[in-house]
Amino acid sequence: MSTFIVLLGPPGVGKGTQAKLLAEQIGLAHISSGDLFRENLKNQTELGKLAQTYMGKGELVPDDVTIAMIRERLTRPDCENGALLDGFPRTTAQADALEKTLAEFGGKVNKVPYITASEKVLVARLSGRWTCRANGHVFHEKNNPPKQARVCDFDGSELYQRDDDKSDTVLHRIQVYFEQTAPLIAYYRQRGNLVEVNGAQNIRAVTKALLSALKK
Ligand code: AMP
Repeated sequence: MSTFIVLLGPPGVGKGTQAKLLAEQIGLAHISSGDLFRENLKNQTELGKLAQTYMGKGELVPDDVTIAMIRERLTRPDCENGALLDGFPRTTAQADALEKTLAEFGGKVNKVPYITASEKVLVARLSGRWTCRANGHVFHEKNNPPKQARVCDFDGSELYQRDDDKSDTVLHRIQVYFEQTAPLIAYYRQRGNLVEVNGAQNIRAVTKALLSALKK
């Protein structure tokens, strides 16, 4: 039986950081839609160039494009036992498409941990975030600083500030989340697989809370 987990929560709540840690601990493939778009952008693919026009403004990439990308990713062999989805779905149409795709593989969304934090915490986390060029490892200048400024602890690559982590785009991304993604809270609550986790704690405490929520 495969297991599919959707990590839900606003931008900056720690989905990426937690997804990396959790995927390792529970042995599932980690699928981050944002990382996939950034990888395409780095390689200057057509998809990357298209995505950039939306990402730069803090807007969502259109559903058809995003759904096709995730669908393809889910067919790869490392997803045979399931996957941990981070940043997807972000709209009701994407959630419907995910349900249909997983049903084709004989699977379903098993659990949806919903990580919460106040808007103040989100803005502070996004504006202090530094991301590694090579593999998307994430640091925070105050909460989780790298050992050496601007250098990734894990692979030595350069840390940079994402364009969409700059202040006006941050506020817009949070607004887009409330308008387009927050309806998924009710969507998954109705299906009975939503579990709330307090994201306003340190990284270890959130991982611990997520692991225990997944056991429920
Ligand atoms: P993230 O790294 O998850 O914060 O995503 C960065 C940006 O990628 C978002 O602001 C969107 O422009 C785009 N993106 C990521 N995931 C999705 C998605 N599921 N649907 C539409 N756009 C997305």
